[in-house]
Amino acid sequence: MGKIICKKCGVEAKEEILDIYEYEEGIPLRNVHAYECPKCKEFIFTDKQVEEMERRTDLIKKELFAFERKITISGRSLVINIPDDLVKHMNILKGKKVKIIPAGKNRFIVEV
Ligand SMILES: [Zn+2]
Repeated sequence: MGKIICKKCGVEAKEEILDIYEYEEGIPLRNVHAYECPKCKEFIFTDKQVEEMERRTDLIKKELFAFERKITISGRSLVINIPDDLVKHMNILKGKKVKIIPAGKNRFIVEV
C-alpha cells in the first residue's frame, strides 16, 4: 500500500489502531485501523478502512434492533410472532407471502 499523506500538512500519516472510534455517532467501534497525521493529529481513513467501519457498524446496528421471540405452536405448525414495531415498519399484512431462506444451521432470513 502506498504512503498516506495528510492533505493539510503534506506529511506522511502513520498507521494507528484506535482503541475506540465512532464512525457513526453512538456506535463505538474498538480497535479501528486508521492513519493519523503526526502534525495536525487528524485521522485519515483509506477506502478499505471506511468499508470495514461501515460493515462493523451495520453488524452492531443489526444486533441493536434484534427482537427476541419464543416459538409457539398453532395446530401442528411452529409459529414465531412478528413484533408490532416490525409489522408497522415493514408494512406487513395478514395473508402476505414471505420467503424463508435458510442461512446456515442457526439462522434464517425472512424476506417480506
Ligand atoms: Zn496534518
